[in-house]
Amino acid sequence: MSDALGLSSNTGAGSQGPNHGSKENRSSRILVVEDEEAIAQGLVFNLRRKGYEVELEIDGAKALETARNQPWDLIVLDVQLPKIDGFQICQQLRIDGIFTAILVLTARDQPDDIVYGLKNGADDYMVKPFDLAELLARVEGLLRRAEWSRTHAPESSTAADPTDTSDARFEFGDFWVDFKTWQAKTRSGVVELSRKELAVLKVFTEKPNQVVTRRELLERVWELPNHPNTRVVDNVIVALRKSFEESSWRPRHIHSVRGVGYRFVP
Ligand code: CA
Repeated sequence: MSDALGLSSNTGAGSQGPNHGSKENRSSRILVVEDEEAIAQGLVFNLRRKGYEVELEIDGAKALETARNQPWDLIVLDVQLPKIDGFQICQQLRIDGIFTAILVLTARDQPDDIVYGLKNGADDYMVKPFDLAELLARVEGLLRRAEWSRTHAPESSTAADPTDTSDARFEFGDFWVDFKTWQAKTRSGVVELSRKELAVLKVFTEKPNQVVTRRELLERVWELPNHPNTRVVDNVIVALRKSFEESSWRPRHIHSVRGVGYRFVP
């Protein structure tokens, strides 16, 4: 097993897990996505021995589902997988607003692929065959960083956090939105908005009557400033207009600024 991974390090049998004594007192949860059996088994065995809670998926479609539907602290993601490849999984998770740390394992060491993968939302990558000791160190580093940004993000991030507001309720026209309860008065009564709808409205209400570009929305709501696909933004706008506009062709509040983005008129 160890030989398949090209490692010879002592991973410290009997050593305490990395979370031993932590205030949360819970193991970090790691999803391993890898279809090569020897590597998969080696990863699962060694990560569990380090004290992590580990699950394995061996096909891309199943992995995407598992990654979406359960909370993970880290995903170790192979690139070449059956059904859906690792880069697509990574990209799709980010579009869905899931920002779990991702360590990509790639057999393709061409710079183009790596750059492409990282741009699509991976946090780190390792080229196969990798050294297990180095992988475990990077896993630990990514988990530490994820924990740090969880506890520090509200101050340091420019991302629109719809729940972070001193001014909970914003009124416009016949409508209102409450950023604390996620509820809004819409054309069809009081409903609960999605996190993305709420975050887009948050950006709008911070910049009334000003042009808000799609790029700004991608950056602040999706944290994907360079994503080429602005359809995710358009979809949320369509949903918001359904809630707050009599006519999407002649909007009163959410105006389109052709080729650029939107202007919110309260
Ligand atoms: Ca593979």
